[in-house]
Amino acid sequence: MMTRRIADILKSGQPDESVKVQGWVRTKRELKEFAFVEVNDGSSMANLQVVLNPDLADYGTIIKQLNTGASVEVEGVLVESPAKGQRIELKASSAKVFGEADPETYPLQKKRHSFEFLRDIGHLRSRTNTFGAVFRVRNACATAIHKFFQERDFLWIHAPIITASDCEGAGEMFTVTGFNLDKVPRTEKQEIDYTKDFFGRPAYLTVSGQLEAEIMAMAFSNVYTFGPTFRAENSNTSRHLAEFWMVEPEMAFCDLQGDMDLAEEFLKYIFNYVLENCPEDMEFFNQRIDKSVLETADNIINNQFERLTYTDAIKLLEKADKKFEFPVSWGLDLQSEHERYLAEEKFKKPVIVTDYPAKIKAFYMRLNDDEQTVRAMDILAPKIGEIIGGSQREERLDVLEKRIETLGIDAETIWWYLDLRRFGTVPHAGFGLGFERLVQFMTGMANIRDVIPFPRAPLTVEF
Ligand code: ATP
Ligand code: MN
Repeated sequence: MMTRRIADILKSGQPDESVKVQGWVRTKRELKEFAFVEVNDGSSMANLQVVLNPDLADYGTIIKQLNTGASVEVEGVLVESPAKGQRIELKASSAKVFGEADPETYPLQKKRHSFEFLRDIGHLRSRTNTFGAVFRVRNACATAIHKFFQERDFLWIHAPIITASDCEGAGEMFTVTGFNLDKVPRTEKQEIDYTKDFFGRPAYLTVSGQLEAEIMAMAFSNVYTFGPTFRAENSNTSRHLAEFWMVEPEMAFCDLQGDMDLAEEFLKYIFNYVLENCPEDMEFFNQRIDKSVLETADNIINNQFERLTYTDAIKLLEKADKKFEFPVSWGLDLQSEHERYLAEEKFKKPVIVTDYPAKIKAFYMRLNDDEQTVRAMDILAPKIGEIIGGSQREERLDVLEKRIETLGIDAETIWWYLDLRRFGTVPHAGFGLGFERLVQFMTGMANIRDVIPFPRAPLTVEF
């Protein structure tokens, strides 16, 4: 008999159907006449209740083995459940235990465990309700992202993980080396001799796939990256990981307007998809993790995002009858409290702020005619703050060269990036979305380490 997933049985299984399930025991209840075992196979939040009768072969032995955490295969017949809260249950005709779990030492007991404790047992935490829901929703988010872009004919490109360019923020990159660190070759001046290293020069783990996405957009028009990126920032926050996934679409023949339109449609699409495909998990988050999860999703799906310039945003913040901790003044970056004021209090819906001062944005953003601001856009969401950052890119060689020089960036290290402006340059734009931040916002999970299966952060690399 084919194994059936428990989610499918709970949804569409009918009385008298014969089924086989495989999974892990969540709880066991022994009564005089029979025993109940709740089995979960990861396909849904809800367990399948299995009823075992003493006429089962080896009943005594099997019941002793079926403790929380044990792996089991059960065959039997579905029957209507007399119990409240479940439509159907499985009357076992045979049961086989694959592996027992000693109740004295199995760390996951029926009581609620703290997320801190569960991080210490990262090899087992996925068997809990919360992490089951998190990783199903994470999977749905990833599926929605690919569906969204593939339906629109975007090419998924695989940006390299190892890179030689350090264009984004200096000093936050992990070095990749083939050196034996006990015997690092030195030059006569006692500097590290990278010419003898694996790549013949310093190499790093990438912090972003954007520059490579730009290369590919200049051949395929519309592309996106979706892959791991790395930051060696030693910040122990609930929003930063050393290894995280990033989504970066890049569109040729596209301006800031088109970029914003796509980003808005994109966010709405993902939230819609997850609500449709993981309703029980989302309900769980709303009840148990953060009471505003469904409201936030609804707010994103059903509102047209407000759009305003950075300059107008500053004017609004200056006029606000609210005390901010950080100063508000043209030229300074918006802090999280300012972003949340705009989205949560002023407009009560997602806000797209555009045309930031050039000084606080990256070198590749397109300079406006005022020569003070650039064609950047950040999307700020209620309860969330910044969720997407993007821009129209500078496609004019002379302007880009001037900007690079002003910022003191070595043009030789990105000669190929400048070449894209030399040969067939076009207006183009894109944005970046931190995937784990999205999953945090979607689920209401407070700590970013709890939305990635195996978090990498300072001193955290066990599993
Ligand atoms: P922050 O100010 O929060 O550190 P950032 O300005 O460094 O973010 P970007 O360089 O613009 O972020 O990176 C693009 C996106 O990647 C961010 O909007 C965010 O969603 C995500 N991101 C950045 N750093 C991290 C990190 N260390 N861990 C997880 N996600 C991150
Ligand atoms: Mn950062």
